[in-house]
Amino acid sequence: MAEIAVFDREAAERVVAELRESYNSGKTRSYEWRVNQLKNLLKLVCENEEEMVQTVHSDLYKPEFEAFAHEIALLKGSCKLALKELRRWMAPEKVKTSITTFPSSGAIVPEPFGVVLVISAWNYPFLLSLDPVVGAIAAGNAVVLKPSEISPRTSSLMAKLLAKYLDTSAVKVVEGAVPETNALLEQKWDKIFYTGNGRVGRIVMAAAAKHLTPVVLELGGKSPVVVDSEINLQVASRRIIAGKWGCNNGQACIAPDYIITPKEFAPKLVESLKQELERFYGKNPLETKDLSRIVNAKHFDRLTRLLDDDRVSGKIVHGGEKDKTKLQIAPTLLLDVPRDSLIMTEEIFGPLLPILTVDKVEDSFEIVNSGTKPLAAYLFTNNKKLKERFVACISAGGVAINETALHLTISTLPFGGVGESGMGAYHGKFSFDAFSHKKAVLYRSFAGDAPMRYPPYTKGKLRI
Ligand code: NAD
Repeated sequence: MAEIAVFDREAAERVVAELRESYNSGKTRSYEWRVNQLKNLLKLVCENEEEMVQTVHSDLYKPEFEAFAHEIALLKGSCKLALKELRRWMAPEKVKTSITTFPSSGAIVPEPFGVVLVISAWNYPFLLSLDPVVGAIAAGNAVVLKPSEISPRTSSLMAKLLAKYLDTSAVKVVEGAVPETNALLEQKWDKIFYTGNGRVGRIVMAAAAKHLTPVVLELGGKSPVVVDSEINLQVASRRIIAGKWGCNNGQACIAPDYIITPKEFAPKLVESLKQELERFYGKNPLETKDLSRIVNAKHFDRLTRLLDDDRVSGKIVHGGEKDKTKLQIAPTLLLDVPRDSLIMTEEIFGPLLPILTVDKVEDSFEIVNSGTKPLAAYLFTNNKKLKERFVACISAGGVAINETALHLTISTLPFGGVGESGMGAYHGKFSFDAFSHKKAVLYRSFAGDAPMRYPPYTKGKLRI
């Protein structure tokens, strides 16, 4: 029987040593290498998109439309943008200097960190793995990708395809779960980019601290949606549904986690959400093909526990049906749940949507700000003053007004968290920046050598 290679600490050491040798050879720094790898990555996606969509469907039952629109299309966009802009991104940025160094010039020169590690999560397995890899390559690094073991078929496909299309001496995939990730984390990296939950984020950051390695942590949290009564109710309901159930059935880091709305308006909002849910997913949503399933039994049980909490009994106003054999839970609305219930204290990451009510919409600010800082915060309103106050007073990784989730698709906006929702950001040029050190460079000639900086420090020099 063939022996199965164990990926342990020694194996991780070997991978890093090989990548460091490649990096030290200087090849990953050249514009040509970067462009070549990015072109190959784009080719990989274009030539295999059908298999990629099918694979993510087999791991997560993700609808083809979502797999294509939320993973394949965004990935292609990232590759194309990097290819188009790379020269500009790599160019040193000239900066003004001061009288103290006259005559001189200054530049900020982006340089790759070196050998970097990308650890990704299961819910958007291609996008969350390959989008950071685009940034790492564009910035000239050698990179190891560790995809999530929870989407195993996607993980194996990436290992196979990256080995086929990319330069394996500088870009590698290591598959595996906690032991393999730990073996990797014991190594010295020049940057670690982690996507996942905050508990593991802390493990990653502690491991990075041993080597003073900088980290990007793309984490999650409870992303609120504040719904005012001055709105186009149907459009608001549809956009809330698209950001929640239309994003991997709520298993998305920026999916609306809970709604806050004025008490008087809540019945109208619930009614509208119910109508649109039924329009999109039919009368029996457990049968629809347009919703991802819950990723596994562990997460199914976790979500069931949120619904079984005594504090929320009788609060379901829509949905609640589930089928463990199919790992399906229907889109579920809960009204007026207590703030100390499990569903309001944990990130939901699934198809349950609690609605809190307040006397007036402004009361929502205190509720949002009393929790940890979310990855996203959403507001639906036509009230200009309320929009301004929301943007000014709510701290979140990102904010979208009269929209959910789509801010993530705007490549000119940084995507990342704040506080417990993460640190650092990526997408578009921000991905290049996330994997580049900004080196400060001062250029002088031998002219203008002011004697006043040199000893002896006479009193006259002090007065200058
Ligand atoms: P996951 O279980 O796939 O874990 C993420 C990675 O961490 C995997 O590669 C896994 O192997 C590794 N890992 C797990 N346990 C570990 C341990 N004990 N030690 C070392 N490595 C370990 O994904 P998840 O954490 O369930 O993902 C869901 C969470 O991620 C949610 O909180 C969600 O909000 C967040 N998320 C954030 C983003 C973002 O872009 N900010 C995107 C997706 C998910």
